[in-house]
Amino acid sequence: MLKELKEQVCRANLELVRRGVVIYTWGNVSGINREKGLIVIKPSGVDYDGMEPEDMVVVDLESGETIEGSWNPSSDTKTHLELYRAFPSIGGITHTHSINAVAFAQAGLDIPALGTTHADYFYGAIPCTRELSKGEVEEAYESNTGKSIVECIKERGIDPLAVPGIIVKNHGPFSWGKDAAVSVYHAVVMEAISEMAIKTLLLNPQASMAQYVCDKHYMRKHGPNAYYGQGKK
Ligand SMILES: [Zn+2]
Repeated sequence: MLKELKEQVCRANLELVRRGVVIYTWGNVSGINREKGLIVIKPSGVDYDGMEPEDMVVVDLESGETIEGSWNPSSDTKTHLELYRAFPSIGGITHTHSINAVAFAQAGLDIPALGTTHADYFYGAIPCTRELSKGEVEEAYESNTGKSIVECIKERGIDPLAVPGIIVKNHGPFSWGKDAAVSVYHAVVMEAISEMAIKTLLLNPQASMAQYVCDKHYMRKHGPNAYYGQGKK
């Protein structure tokens, strides 16, 4: 079942290790088949070494039940499900504990848009979610984490594809994209721009970027008149 999606999701999980944003089992990637209403996600606590497409777990989008797989799904599965339910444009999700993005999470700060590398992928600051209440943590923690992400994006009026990532307070980054591979790409970019931002703020705590520079860089890649890259002839 979902052979191709399992291959994509497995490859995306291994890419996290290859790019150095995940150690041990600190991360997970999922992908969705919208027509079937099923997601494919990394198994919980299984080593990346020797991970195969058949190890991926199939979970029902609506019920959250495991449909197929010999392992339990990632412990963060319910967070992924909340995001897929709220944002139909999302096709893949990645979660990591990459060091520099986690530093923003632990500091409880947005990742500010300070340069063009950031603006090429994220149209404005990458938000940090609010703190969860004691009740939200003790009961349905993973679902509530997902709900706090959805709430933050909606409250700020963000298009999830224009800012394809978020920082969960005291926890770490989640990113997404049209498929699993793109969500990993965004996780890797998010870690790099987090490191750049921290170094920038060390040198100059007042550093900033004009909105028109942010607009220019985001729009030349993603706007209706995008002209970055080879494009269509
Ligand atoms: Zn985590």
